[in-house]
Amino acid sequence: MKREKAIVVFSGGQDSTTCLFWARERFEEVEVVTFDYGQKHRLEIQCAKDIAAELGVKHHILDMSLLNQLAPNALTRHDIKIEEGENGELPSTFVPGRNLLFLSFAGVLARQVGAKHIVTGVSETDFSGYPDCRDIFMKSLNVTLNLSMDASFVIDTPLMWLNKAQTWELADQLGALEFVRERTLTCYNGVIADGCGECPACKLRKKGLDEFYLGKSNLEE
Ligand SMILES: [Zn+2]
Repeated sequence: MKREKAIVVFSGGQDSTTCLFWARERFEEVEVVTFDYGQKHRLEIQCAKDIAAELGVKHHILDMSLLNQLAPNALTRHDIKIEEGENGELPSTFVPGRNLLFLSFAGVLARQVGAKHIVTGVSETDFSGYPDCRDIFMKSLNVTLNLSMDASFVIDTPLMWLNKAQTWELADQLGALEFVRERTLTCYNGVIADGCGECPACKLRKKGLDEFYLGKSNLEE
């Protein structure tokens, strides 16, 4: 039985789009929220808009340009190169406090629209060391949000323990594999669907997809 209302934190990428399909199966009513923090690839926002419109979900876009003012990073600045972290360092795409801020705003919005559930596609499995993607952080924030607004929100993290191959598998189970593959944008160079193939995000996405298809063909044999 479907019940309750959910807000999905939505970027138009593979993970959050899979979460959107996941939420639509579970909740009576689903809305999405996208944060505009000055992403250098403006296509990201457009991509999110297009997906929300096609799936017929209400789309909130919040201006979070202050994030770039606080913490210039490789996702917003053309002069900062995308670099993978080495020797335990965080990659240049890391934005300190991003999930803390985004989920706090999502919480305020959830309260405004009467949503109990806040769904986010963070994952501890494939994470690049971002501390605010960890399960323990999400549990802590859930308590904080509830205390701050005297509410009983539930932060849902359906991808928390999945790797990229398992995330593709989930999309497949939800009947959304093709949609997610063709319509989402994960690439750091702003190329939709299968992407540029060169950046760390594309490599991770492709590796997961290959593993997923390999696992599937092994099962079918
Ligand atoms: Zn790419």
